[in-house]
Amino acid sequence: MSAAERREELKQVLAQARGCVRCSELAATRKNVVFGAGNANADLMFIGEAPGASEDEQGLPFVGRAGKLLDTLLEEIGLARANVFIANTLKCRPPGNRDPLPVEIENCREYLYRQVELIEPIVICSLGNFSTKLLRGDPTGITRLHGRPEVIVLGRRAVRLYPIFHPAAALYTPRTLETLREDFARIPELLAQGEPEQPVSIDGMLDEVEIEQPGEEQALAVDQLGLF
Ligand code: SF4
Repeated sequence: MSAAERREELKQVLAQARGCVRCSELAATRKNVVFGAGNANADLMFIGEAPGASEDEQGLPFVGRAGKLLDTLLEEIGLARANVFIANTLKCRPPGNRDPLPVEIENCREYLYRQVELIEPIVICSLGNFSTKLLRGDPTGITRLHGRPEVIVLGRRAVRLYPIFHPAAALYTPRTLETLREDFARIPELLAQGEPEQPVSIDGMLDEVEIEQPGEEQALAVDQLGLF
């Protein structure tokens, strides 16, 4: 798939998500669906938990101080936001920043998997405990797992998962920041390893995936957002 085709397909998934009401409480209380932002052709993807108040307000992931720290850490390894794609496991903000419910995570999983399948990242950094546990399907926490890459399959795509501390956790704890910085420094080496071996049936299965076409209103919303 060309970069342009990839971008167009991603915009269609975005249009779908913007009209999504699978989680009735979240759909009723959100200001924006925070689909994710960045480069549709990125080799490096970051996945956090769920949008907070500022993200919900602006419709963009990782705004605020944690987002600035992420920008700084990217810069230190020669990258910028324009080179990566940032998303959350849940696209809508849980009211009062409560933890996402299992049913909400399940409802939203398809969007995340489609993002991964379309963007085809080599490395996915899970940010913090929540997304690391969710993506690995295992309760082992980030303190044990940070900085330890492993190959996992998300949807129909094999990726190099690289758990790291959440930038928000490093804002006020110099030692966590130091660890996060050390883990970041290994990202270029992981990217250089290239994509892991893919599940054999991936191409045929992807051809069978059908995506609803966005209506006129949804297409306009995509243009206004201009995320990719
Ligand atoms: S969290 Fe995901 S599945 Fe739930 S309403 Fe939002 S976009 Fe839809």
